[in-house]
Order: sequence, then C-alpha cells, then structure tokens
Amino acid sequence: MNVSIPEAAERAAQTGADGVGLLRMEHMILSTNETPEHYIENHGEDAYIDEIIQGIRGVADEFYPRPVRVRTLDAPTDEFRELDGGEDEPHEHNPMLGYRGIRRSLDRPDVFAHELEAFRQLWEMGYDNVELMLPLVNDAEDVIQARNLMEAAGIDWETRNWGVMIETPAAALTIELMIEHGIDFASFGTNDLTQYTLAVDRNNGNVADRFDELHPAVLELISEVIETCREHDVATSICGQAGSKPEMARFLVNEGVSSISANIDAVRDVQHEVKRVEQKLLLDSVR
Ligand code: PEP
Ligand code: MG
Repeated sequence: MNVSIPEAAERAAQTGADGVGLLRMEHMILSTNETPEHYIENHGEDAYIDEIIQGIRGVADEFYPRPVRVRTLDAPTDEFRELDGGEDEPHEHNPMLGYRGIRRSLDRPDVFAHELEAFRQLWEMGYDNVELMLPLVNDAEDVIQARNLMEAAGIDWETRNWGVMIETPAAALTIELMIEHGIDFASFGTNDLTQYTLAVDRNNGNVADRFDELHPAVLELISEVIETCREHDVATSICGQAGSKPEMARFLVNEGVSSISANIDAVRDVQHEVKRVEQKLLLDSVR
C-alpha cells in the first residue's frame, strides 16, 4: 500500500497489506514547514537526518518484516516555495518539468547525502525491510550518479534493495540500460508517467478529462518495461494512484507484474481482483 503520512502507519499495517510500495519522504520534510536547506541551516545536519530516520522508522516498525519502499525527496519548487526558506527556490515556468526528484538530488549532492545517511543508519540499526526508491529518473546516467552517491555515503548498494520509479517515457524506454547498473526493482509512478506520456498536466483542470492512466500509450510503456524486467529478474510494481483501480490491477497481473501498491481504502478490492485474475491465469494454464 501507499503511505504518505507516517502517522497513518499503524492503521495501514492493520489492513493486512504485504508491505508499503510507496512511502513519500515529502511529508516528513514539508511538515517541518522548512525547506531542507533552511532546516539544515537552522537546526543542523544531524537533526535533519534524525527527522527522516524517525519518519521512516515508525512505518518500518509497524510493517516489519514486511518491506517498506521509501522514496527519496520529490517535491516541486512551487511546493517548496510555500515553506520557510522557500524564497530561495528558483522560479520555474513549469515546475512539473523542472527541478524536482532525482534532478534536484543529483544537483545538490550535499543535501541528498543526508537522506542517504538516514538510510545507511536505518540499515545499520537492522531495518532490513527498508528499500530505497529514486523518483523521476530518466536514464542510466541518473542511476549511475545516484548509485555513486550511495556508495560515497557508505551504502553497500549490491546487498541493499533499491530501485527506480518509472515516471517518464525516457525511463520506460531505457529500462534495460538501467538494469545493467544494479537496480532491484522498477515501480510505475503512473501519475507522472501519464502526465508526461500524454502531455497532460496532472494539476490542470482544463485537461483533466484527458488524464487517462489506462491510455494505450501508457499501457504499452508499462507492458514493455514489465517484459524487460522479467527477462532480467528485476521486480516490477506500481505505486501511482492507478494501482488502486481494479482495471489496472487486472492489466498488470496479466502482464506479470511482481506487486501492486494501492491506497489504504482500495487494498481489499485490489487484493480480490489480483486473486481473481491469478486464479483465471492458473485455470487457463491447466486447461
Ligand atoms: C506518481 O507519479 O505516480 C507517483 C506515485 O509520484 P507522485 O504522485 O508523488 O509524483
Ligand atoms: Mg511522481
């Protein structure tokens, strides 16, 4: 399931879900009401790292030993601008196409290093159910750079579970090259993948009726990625909102996806749908 607010972890863990497919780091930072840079300047690096550790730890505890996939920071500049320190954010014509996700992290490795340090400490504490997920990667170069920073932070990326979100057509089309660099999983961020494939701003009401996660172009990209990942024994998942739709679950199971992450209120329905489709697949194969 998807968890946006660490405080919801207890209720989430009681749903019987097999794990967390997306724990967004944003809330842990946005709830301090300060940009990361501002927070670090005022409270110090250790306090910032601790803020992240505490946010993840609550969820990792509730779900242990079930996996908790934590996504590194991904907030657009217009959201950061609302916070203390936000006046230093760059002004962007289109924040959705701008300085967010892995782009910002790779451009500010000193800030990103604190997030990585939080992961390193959690793993050292024994939270081997925590997994690291990189948002908005475009290609193998992003993966290599992020992996180098993980290494510099003292993380043994070969033994830890880490992967990428597939949120741009570029990422979907270059998945095979990314796989060469050691990722363990690829997770479809269909909110962004739909936005960028269809050129439909996810926050623009004028084109909201054109936002279709089940569009054949989106499904084709997903299907190709699953096929490539299966060939290389890399796990696939979905953590966008569409994972909560039974139609999407049906499509993904038929394509051979490894797991599905849904919103708390959709977990039951999606579990039922998956079971139904899997039974049909089994029966078909026996016949
Ligand atoms: C997505 O893009 O589908 C996703 C899960 O990330 P976010 O909604 O946080 O951009
Ligand atoms: Mg996204």
